[in-house]
Amino acid sequence: MPGRPVRQSWRVGQRRAAQPGRGPTDPDLLVQPAWSARHRGEHRKRILKAADLIAAAAAEVLALALPIECVCCGREDLAICAGCERRLRLLTRHPFRAESAAPALMDTDGSIILPVVAAGIYREELAHSVLAFKRHGQRQLRSVLGNALGRAIAAAAAGDRGIVLVPVPSSNSAFRTRGFSPVHLLLARALRSSSSLSGVSCQDALRKVRIAGAPAALAGGQKGLGRGDRARRVRGSMRAVRRAARGGLRGRPCIIVDDVLTTGATLAEAARAVHQAGGIVRGAVVLAATRAPDAPPSPA
Ligand SMILES: [Zn+2]
Repeated sequence: MPGRPVRQSWRVGQRRAAQPGRGPTDPDLLVQPAWSARHRGEHRKRILKAADLIAAAAAEVLALALPIECVCCGREDLAICAGCERRLRLLTRHPFRAESAAPALMDTDGSIILPVVAAGIYREELAHSVLAFKRHGQRQLRSVLGNALGRAIAAAAAGDRGIVLVPVPSSNSAFRTRGFSPVHLLLARALRSSSSLSGVSCQDALRKVRIAGAPAALAGGQKGLGRGDRARRVRGSMRAVRRAARGGLRGRPCIIVDDVLTTGATLAEAARAVHQAGGIVRGAVVLAATRAPDAPPSPA
């Protein structure tokens, strides 16, 4: 961002995320990032990949010259210090089934509409890291969180090699604001790092669409809306891209991937769009679930 010191705004963001006594805020309500990669996933062209690597290396050199703060505890260190990284790994060590705490994914008779595996509960180090990553896309957080997502995907795929992972698309406005899609970046990392995911592929099969007759995005995201309001607001908001609609997903077992699970309305909508394109929805995976299941978490 020209004329604005990158370092300064980064620190402000990190302090805010690490403030004690204030719970993590809904990531979608946060201010825009100061800098970021301008693409949804990883570049396919070698030259662009190289440019990314050079930019990341430059950022790391800069970080050595100007100490940065851990996004969790605020200590001057790396983007996440060794202690907080260890705690984050503990928080995501046992992926669990999370759909029972998401009203849009459970039927009124208690039956499951869509099973979801979460890497961890959205709290403490996990919440701070997810929040910071969604704002700035830090490379170090991408690797720690991507690995956690990879473990959850491996638990959900349970060795099935034909699975197609379908990331929940970010809205165009969120993409313009952030400059990158956190889910796509984490998913790319998860697939690269986890050997247990060989044979699992990824298809960017969905896109967001404006719902005809719906008001433009309301200020404040979905916070404060009831279950029915949220579900109504997202219904019809996703569609399969042309390639997927023409048979790319037909008959293939699919797992939908998102970063944070709240009511489940977004996942339910993604599942509807994948189903409409002929995909067989096996379930979903998220990095963090905002609510713990009522019963003791059942391992995925
Ligand atoms: Zn720390």
